[in-house]
Amino acid sequence: MARILITGGAGFIGSHLCASFLARGDEVICVDNLSTGSEENVAPCRSNPRFTFIAHNVTRFIGVEGHVDAVLHFASPASPADYLEMPIQTLKVGSLGTHNALGLAKAKRALFLLASTSEVYGDPLVKPQREDYWGNVNPIGPRGVYDEAKRFAEAMTMAYHHYHGLDTRIVRIFNTYGPRMRMNDGRVVPNFITQALKGEGLTVYGQGNQTRSFLYIDDLVRGIHRLCESGYHLPVNLGNPFEMTVLEFARKILGLTGSASPIVYRPLPQDDPQVRQPDISKAREILGWEPQVALEEGLRKTIEYFREKLREPS
Ligand code: UDP
Repeated sequence: MARILITGGAGFIGSHLCASFLARGDEVICVDNLSTGSEENVAPCRSNPRFTFIAHNVTRFIGVEGHVDAVLHFASPASPADYLEMPIQTLKVGSLGTHNALGLAKAKRALFLLASTSEVYGDPLVKPQREDYWGNVNPIGPRGVYDEAKRFAEAMTMAYHHYHGLDTRIVRIFNTYGPRMRMNDGRVVPNFITQALKGEGLTVYGQGNQTRSFLYIDDLVRGIHRLCESGYHLPVNLGNPFEMTVLEFARKILGLTGSASPIVYRPLPQDDPQVRQPDISKAREILGWEPQVALEEGLRKTIEYFREKLREPS
């Protein structure tokens, strides 16, 4: 039985990770300041005696008694709408928070895993994006607060690896979706699904010809477990190579929900990446990993989750 500490453990991805480690028989310490996470996400974990929740902002020193085997650093706003609203907190959690999480891992001689992002590639000039592409990021644009914080976090993680000999992992997560995404987090998956279910217009930004590729949460969690076990310390992309335009995605949601909502067009946000598609050769080769959940299957489960949410009294 290992003792795993997950920062951002009450967030969308973090809460699925908490549940997966508990299911494996491990002990889980979830650290979250609930700025974008919620206690409801970890409600199913609460009854497990191997689960502890600590309300704490990881930009301050993270003190934990006893041994820790792994620190998984997932704390950060992750939706563009959230990090635009919390630019300084986003920069702080990516920099100070990463430093504290690394310091904790070093003190405990624990494995450290950084949740990085496809945003390190910015608005990429190559497609698909391989891990050796350095990216095209506007440091002073609105998304710079997230992109640069994550790029700094990767640099800091590599420095701890090289200078302190820390056992580290870096996962670059591409658009991931599934139950427990926040209904109003502003990202395309919750927006389109809730708009479709409510009969409101699906807000396509720009002409909708920008592309994304969507990975179901269970596939991501499986990949993260494999990466932890791998011994590989350079960044690894985890994402779905199946790319589609935002407009195609809107039509898919309309089809799956059976909604008669119209598509309405809104201005394209500044620096919105025009393309995004992971090259997952490395994950295939090193982790023996590739997505298994078909888009329609994952979306059906996610639609069901949001349908339930909308039924709850507000
Ligand atoms: N998008 C959209 N309508 C929405 C929300 C997002 O057309 O209501 C677009 C957005 O401009 C981007 C893509 O969908 O091109 C994915 O946006 P999201 O906020 O999910 O995350 P991103 O991939 O940009 O980090």
